[in-house]
Amino acid sequence: MSDGPVVLLVEDEAQMRRFLRAALTSHGYRLVEAEKGCDAVGLTTSHNPELVLLDLGLPDIDGFEVTRRLREFSKVPIIVLSARGREDDKVAALDAGADDYVTKPFGMKELLARMRVALRHREGLATEEPVLEFEGLRIDFARHEVTREGELVKLTPLEFKLLACLARHEGKVLTHRQLLKEVWGPSHGDDTHYLRVYMANLRKKLERDAAAPRYLLTEPGVGYRLKG
Ligand code: CA
Repeated sequence: MSDGPVVLLVEDEAQMRRFLRAALTSHGYRLVEAEKGCDAVGLTTSHNPELVLLDLGLPDIDGFEVTRRLREFSKVPIIVLSARGREDDKVAALDAGADDYVTKPFGMKELLARMRVALRHREGLATEEPVLEFEGLRIDFARHEVTREGELVKLTPLEFKLLACLARHEGKVLTHRQLLKEVWGPSHGDDTHYLRVYMANLRKKLERDAAAPRYLLTEPGVGYRLKG
């Protein structure tokens, strides 16, 4: 019997459940399964999963409602499995409190990588570090200093705040609204033009090619993600 992380899979399609059950158990995960949204809430209480994989279209309450209900009592990482091309759904799920989304159909390698990121955030390892280093990029939080390939990069306080926010959530997509609230404050949730301007400046300063960014990736229609 495996002692890997317990994952709650909320998915009404039997075929998808079978596929994920086979793939995830072979990677050492232990699976708890729910077909309905309502069951997901009860199973989270009874099994205390370390991660939730959540389909949005469920026969009773949808994935958004499940996310809201789980967030009333749990910080368990939630990865939404969403249908292709529905950006509004992704944004709504992330704003409701989901941690990430993976678009269907997805590759298993991609899903496993996202799951590792979510589990790492849960452990809080990445968020406590005083210095974060990515390939060629170093962020010193105590000194508010950023270096790229050893060279100091001058950032304005807001640019640093935006970069720090993305870096603290490395690998995770943050919605426009989340970033605006975090960096500019609660009343600026809709000012996406600020974000575009500051992101363009950050890319100019940090990326070798601002038009083909290595670190600061756009999630079209959803938000941004820092790739470590
Ligand atoms: Ca479904």
